[in-house]
Amino acid sequence: MTTWLLDVEWEGHRADVCVRDGRVGRILAGGDGRPAAGDTVIEAAGGWLLPGLHDHHLHVLSLAAAFTSVDCSPVAAPGLAELGAALRADQHPDGWVRGIGHHDAKTGPLDRHVLDRLLPDRPVRIQHRGGALWVLNSLALQRVVHLLDDSDDVERDAQGEPTGRLWRYDSRLAPELPLREPDLGAVGQRLRSLGITGVTDATPDLDETAARLLAEAATDGRLPVAITVLGAGASPPQPLVGGPAKLLLRDHDLPTYDQLAATVEGHRATGRAVAVHCVTVESLVLTLAVLDEVGVVPGDRIEHASVCPQALLPEIKRLGLRVIVQPDLLRTRGREYLVEVEPHDLLDLCPNQRLVGAGIPTACSSDAPFGDLDPWQIVATARSRQTADGAVLGAAESVSTATALSGYLSAAEEPGGPPRRVAVGGAADLLLLRAGRDEALANPHRELVRATLSGGDLHVG
Ligand SMILES: [Zn+2]
Repeated sequence: MTTWLLDVEWEGHRADVCVRDGRVGRILAGGDGRPAAGDTVIEAAGGWLLPGLHDHHLHVLSLAAAFTSVDCSPVAAPGLAELGAALRADQHPDGWVRGIGHHDAKTGPLDRHVLDRLLPDRPVRIQHRGGALWVLNSLALQRVVHLLDDSDDVERDAQGEPTGRLWRYDSRLAPELPLREPDLGAVGQRLRSLGITGVTDATPDLDETAARLLAEAATDGRLPVAITVLGAGASPPQPLVGGPAKLLLRDHDLPTYDQLAATVEGHRATGRAVAVHCVTVESLVLTLAVLDEVGVVPGDRIEHASVCPQALLPEIKRLGLRVIVQPDLLRTRGREYLVEVEPHDLLDLCPNQRLVGAGIPTACSSDAPFGDLDPWQIVATARSRQTADGAVLGAAESVSTATALSGYLSAAEEPGGPPRRVAVGGAADLLLLRAGRDEALANPHRELVRATLSGGDLHVG
């Protein structure tokens, strides 16, 4: 099958581009293209043709789960009454109500008693937006009571009764939860509609079943994107690509220096780089010290670097680390950051320009579903640094939309590296916009996406 993209803006020129057998076949001067009968033709009218975007940090299966979950975020449920109404309205056939994205800001903290008042007669479980905490109502707790252990991960009241708050309990709860088949086709459609043709799944400890689900969906076309996984071992099932090993540091229970060094050395023994989750200064300092001693390898990266003082930049640079940031969390969570984050950390929150300015390869990403998947919104927030209320946080860390977008154009194995190019012979993972480059960068918006090609397969928005 042959597709012609006529009169695109390509690297500053007008061009006609021919895609054949999943590759870019020819790039001709605008007006020189001669489609044959039966070829698919798109008249681009000067729309920017660029490589498909790569989101360097998200969680595919959680994103799929989010499509069949109740949105409990402060924006969607700005009080207990709204939260109760949203939970009661859910009618998933397996009988459970699964909520995500909760934050205490508007409703106060949840426990089983609060949830029982909202919905006592169906099992309910709600995930705190940080991802580590699930809160269950009493009915749900009854169903899983035999799975509760004596660890601190099960919060208990003064009488020793579970409060319904379970920390880091996903895999331990799994045997009693109904299996919801994740709708990976819906995720694939959403990704393509946004111009995304590659993703890096940053889920730690992605088990065999999960990796197989992703591999099957990538093979049968439900997930028409190139997928790199950080949490599935060095050799995940084809066509998944194994990336650096994701290390999730628990902020309230950091490993010791020796423990982290041993973990990193373990991965080095199998030749793997590491991707270390660092959302506090303490975890970042620890990670830098360990990597300095153990030694770095190409591909080592820091996830989030949510709080990054200027003083640490030279060390990050010297070690040659990459940093994967999520500027749009300023928009979705900024209101709470202003209340929760230590005032002296606010200046160092969600760094971006300081990393770029220090010459550190930096890539913006979504962390979806914990952040909004939309790369165009993310690029816009990277420039505006605005919370949902319009407050600006850390204006000095603003980057241009071109800089923010360039992270999405970097290769899966080189986040923040040189942008990929649309070139003859290259894979036809392409994105065509409705507007030219200058207009798109001035006003980035998801409606700009005109067509996405993954491996030459065309999806017209
Ligand atoms: Zn993440």
